[in-house]
Amino acid sequence: MSDKTVAFLGAGGTMGLGMSRNLLRAGFAVRAWNRTREKVEPLAGHGATIASTPAEAAGGAGVIITMLSDGDAVLETIAQALPEAGSDTIWIQMSTIGPEATDRCIERAREAGVVFVDAPVLGTKQPAEEGKLTVLASGPDDVRDRVQPIFDAVGQRTLWVGAAGAGSRLKGAVNLWIVTLVEGTAEMPALAEGLGIDPQLVLDALEGGPLDLPYLRLKGPMMLERSFEPSFRLSLAAKDARLAAQAAAQAGLSLPLVDAVASRLTQGAEEYGDQDMAATYLTSAPK
Ligand code: NAP
Repeated sequence: MSDKTVAFLGAGGTMGLGMSRNLLRAGFAVRAWNRTREKVEPLAGHGATIASTPAEAAGGAGVIITMLSDGDAVLETIAQALPEAGSDTIWIQMSTIGPEATDRCIERAREAGVVFVDAPVLGTKQPAEEGKLTVLASGPDDVRDRVQPIFDAVGQRTLWVGAAGAGSRLKGAVNLWIVTLVEGTAEMPALAEGLGIDPQLVLDALEGGPLDLPYLRLKGPMMLERSFEPSFRLSLAAKDARLAAQAAAQAGLSLPLVDAVASRLTQGAEEYGDQDMAATYLTSAPK
């Protein structure tokens, strides 16, 4: 089985579509599967083979990539694919699923006799489409050369951070920053509005100074325009915040900010879960 044949499970998701297209552009043969088949069909026009089941995608592939919502989706889907995997197959898990589910994946891979690489990513829909993700890779040293061409196709930077599981732990720490930033970006204009101040003025006040940042320029206008086309769905951001909070608790740390953010994003996701995570603003904005 060739490393140039990749089974992509979750190829029709926000991230999966862009990543699959970049693999095709880089010359990989992509066997694309998605739970909702219609979402993945456009990839056929770019040369992908559409598979009806995870098992069909995995049969004959040297590499299996999972890019699915959460740990349960990954474990359910890979259970269908692994029986088709050969002993030299590499499973690259790229979804954000946290340390606990990643450890379960490591166990499943060991039982199935396949090599496991834990490689969650930083970057959202546009970087995924442009092949500009940052890959937080972890796994056995001796497969690095085999998987690096895949990471080079989907990303602009790969950080190798240790044994499998380290990538997901690093991702959890970085996600704490992302989710607290988005919640802070939401509550700042909400407070301005509550005080009778035009919320655009908070963005104007910070512009160009040391407290300005590109993320504020990206998410701030979405909030003020109430335009929440999803790059990263609020339900997934809430999941990531909960994973970071759980990881902190398991590490014996008291990190009250991430607990509060997890609870706030979870509350917003009940109503606005399919909109971009910037929609957390709607929970705080004056009604
Ligand atoms: P998405 O657009 O919501 O896509 C989720 C994918 O998971 C879809 O293919 C969906 O299938 C599939 N799925 C969900 N539940 C499933 C189940 N029970 N069984 C099989 N398939 C299932 O999400 P995304 O934004 O691409 O994110 C994918 C992963 O990357 C998540 O772990 C997310 O946290 C992470 N991530 C996302 C971003 C981002 O900015 N978007 C950035 C970094 C990391 P259907 O199409 O049938 O629903």
